[in-house]
Amino acid sequence: MKPAPFAYVRPGTTEDVLAELGRDGAKVLAGGQSLVPVLAMRLGRPSTLVDINAVPELNRMSRTDGHLRVGATVRQRQVQYDDAAAAVPLLRLALPWVGHREIRSRGTVCGSIAHADPSAELPAVASCLDATMVVTSAGGAREISASEFFTGAMSTAVVPEELLTEVRFPVAADGEGFGFGEIARRHGDFALAGVAVRVRTTTAGPEARISCFGISDHPVTRDVSPQLRAALDATGAEPDGSGLGRALRDHAVAIADDVVDTGGDAHASAAYRRQLVAGLVSRHVARAYLKSVRPNREGESS
Ligand SMILES: Cc1cc2nc3c(=O)[nH]c(=O)nc-3n(C[C@H](O)[C@H](O)[C@H](O)COP(=O)(O)OP(=O)(O)OC[C@H]3O[C@@H](n4cnc5c(N)ncnc54)[C@H](O)[C@@H]3O)c2cc1C
Repeated sequence: MKPAPFAYVRPGTTEDVLAELGRDGAKVLAGGQSLVPVLAMRLGRPSTLVDINAVPELNRMSRTDGHLRVGATVRQRQVQYDDAAAAVPLLRLALPWVGHREIRSRGTVCGSIAHADPSAELPAVASCLDATMVVTSAGGAREISASEFFTGAMSTAVVPEELLTEVRFPVAADGEGFGFGEIARRHGDFALAGVAVRVRTTTAGPEARISCFGISDHPVTRDVSPQLRAALDATGAEPDGSGLGRALRDHAVAIADDVVDTGGDAHASAAYRRQLVAGLVSRHVARAYLKSVRPNREGESS
């Protein structure tokens, strides 16, 4: 099958992009790694593709005001290897799981977040870190928190005449540790289930936040601090990873029951996804906690 006919424009400024997006049926083309298959299968029939890749200011990544700012055409692979992005360890943990190297070379971080596939890694990272999405139209810019951005499967708060110009990820602070894991049928496939974790440990104790993906129509975020504290009460203050993981297990089963609301599909039943989430949550919350209290310990992932 071939795409339905469409017009193609490649403006050189954000202003011109926004003017084009104001036309009926126009659609942003970023890396094309999700949009082009959609067009080829005729699941979408935009009248005009607005290619944003010739706009220099959209290809910027910088670290300012405690945030990593990732522009609309910054490739996933750039973020995976750029030194500035090391300040957001959760992104670095997640990116190797996104498709294959060739896809990450073209696919953009903003494109993945705008596309909002329920099984995608980067929307879960944005949710876990409560990243800020900056969307711009001819009328001006607005900022949307991750908790309000993802509204359903492939569905976000961005309206057709808007461009996601930038995502701002908070830079990791001292006392924070991160975990990320997923299960897919083959490496590079979309996840059957996955979890992104941030633990922040201060003198007041640990706070833990998870975002699960592949298990609902959008990433599901929970504060699991009480469960982590209860597990630490059982293990004592200096647990090893496997001991803490075991202590978290019963809590993780209850968390999985709460967050998995997808039905089964050709790849996995809902019950199987619950088992996957329980295992992933207990393992990666434990890892993230240990990283938050022992940041430089050998053999423990960040
Ligand atoms: C074989 C294969 C395997 C893959 N595996 C994975 C995987 O495991 N995990 C994963 O997360 N992804 C996977 N992907 C998808 C990949 O990550 C895409 O790059 C990403 O989802 C979309 O980014 P893009 O820049 O290519 O966007 P495009 O394909 O250009 O656009 C995708 C959608 O987002 C919109 N859009 C893009 N940028 C913006 C913007 N700045 N503002 C507003 N709207 C915008 C477009 O209009 C379109 O609707 C896979 C893709 C392929 C082909």
